Order: sequence, then C-alpha cells, then structure tokens
Amino acid sequence: MRICRFNDNRVGVVRDQSVYDVTQVVAEQLGTFSYPLPRYDPMIAQLSTLIPLFEKAVQGAQPIALSSVKLLSPIANPGKIVAAPVNYQAHLDEAIAEKETFSRHHVRQIHESGLFLKANSSVVGPSEGVDIRFPDRRNDHEIELAVVIGKKSGPVSAANALDIVAGYLIGLDMTVRGPEERSMRKSSDSYTVLGPWFVTADEVGDPSNLSFEITVNGEVRQKANTRDLVIDTPGLIEFASKFYTLDVGDVILTGTPEGVGPVKAGDKMRATIERIGTMDVDVR
Ligand code: MN
Repeated sequence: MRICRFNDNRVGVVRDQSVYDVTQVVAEQLGTFSYPLPRYDPMIAQLSTLIPLFEKAVQGAQPIALSSVKLLSPIANPGKIVAAPVNYQAHLDEAIAEKETFSRHHVRQIHESGLFLKANSSVVGPSEGVDIRFPDRRNDHEIELAVVIGKKSGPVSAANALDIVAGYLIGLDMTVRGPEERSMRKSSDSYTVLGPWFVTADEVGDPSNLSFEITVNGEVRQKANTRDLVIDTPGLIEFASKFYTLDVGDVILTGTPEGVGPVKAGDKMRATIERIGTMDVDVR
C-alpha cells in the first residue's frame, strides 16, 4: 500500500493517479496521547491493524486527483534520521577527486567513518520544497533510498534486518558543502525531503535492486541502482542497530551515488525510485 500525508495533515491512500482520504480511520484508531508523547510513530506502529481499515475506507471514498494535493512527509515526526555517508564506491571516488568541494576529513570509507544523524526538524515533504539556507555556498542534492523502521529493535543481524522494515520512501539528503560536521551541514530546515508517499515493504520487495535517478531542470544528475551500495540496506540496519535502539518510524537514509551537484533557488528537482514513485521538489 502507498500512504501519503497531504494538504492540512490529511492521510491518504494513493492508487494510480488518485488519493483516497482515510484521515478519519487514523483519528479513530490512534486515539489521543498524554505526556510524555511516544518516541515512535503511532501510525506506523499500527500499520497491520490500519491497512485493512484503510482498504475498507478507500471503497467508500471519493478519489482526489494526486496532481491537486500538496504532499507532506509521509512520516511526520521520525524519532531519528540515521544516514550513511559515501556509501557508493563511485561517489567516494568523485569525492576523493574533487578536493575543493569535499572536505578531506569527511572522505573516508563508511566502515571507518560510521553513520551520522540528521535533525528531524529538517524534514519536509516534496510539495514544501527546499529553502536554500546558504546561497553563497554549494548546496547539493543527494538522492537516497530511505528505509522506515516498523518494529522497535535492539541489535539485529543483517540476515534478520528486513524483518523490522515497515517500508520505503525517496529521501533527499540536501547538503551544504564545507568543513563542518555532517550533522550540522545536512540538518538545516527543509534539508531532508521525504516522499512522495510511504510504500509498504511488501510492495517494494528486495530493496537491493532498485534503479533510481534525480534530474535538475530536466537534466539527469544522478542515476544508479541500490545493488551498488557499499553496505546494503540490511547491513546498514545491522550497523545502526549496534549503536542505537531503532524505534518505529525511524528513518535510515542509505547513502547517495555519484553525480551529486549544486542546486540554487528556482531549480526544479525530480526524484524517482523504482517501485516507489516520483516526486517533484522545488528549490527556493
Ligand atoms: Mn547523503
């Protein structure tokens, strides 16, 4: 199933070119919360209960044209966003070659540098677009397969890692180039774009063979396949889970391939991942 968040925090099921509003089901099923609020995503935590209810609600709902809605991040408040630096060999090679752009101490093998965290305040949906924070510096697009955790987990082996995945999204790990720590340069407001909708794991199948690409103003910038990841999705989940408890709704950005490049206000990005979809994101 493809689940989106749209307009004024509505929840919808996406079918072909239509959205079916199922917000009422979520409201009834999730109820209210008291302080302290849960650290996990309550909608993703109840997916197995919600999906049959969504299915029923779609039957009675009017289709809304997908092109007419404003798409927000399907995961509203990820507890944490774990991200993989230089996780495609060809991107490591380009980073080593371009010494002017890629700060020397950031360019290392992922096994050595490990993972990093992005602030969840940086999350937006495709229709919100990216606000360039430092127009005088280089701001790059990085398209990445994004994994959504569906089961709270301590250390998990790669062999069992896909059992805790709820589904997938497209992630844009927008980046200011420069010498600061990654978590700072990649956590400005709107520098994590998640969308266009959440696709449940059963619809995606094997995450280790997905073609994807991003164009800027119609020009292809990055085009790759997740089979070329240095550490694949199960391996990243294992790696992250050694360090952190993974909570439901946590997002893992799996890393970006070669072809990262700058964007500026006025640019139009279009990101596509096989079996997930396509999202248009404007730069302002
Ligand atoms: Mn990245």
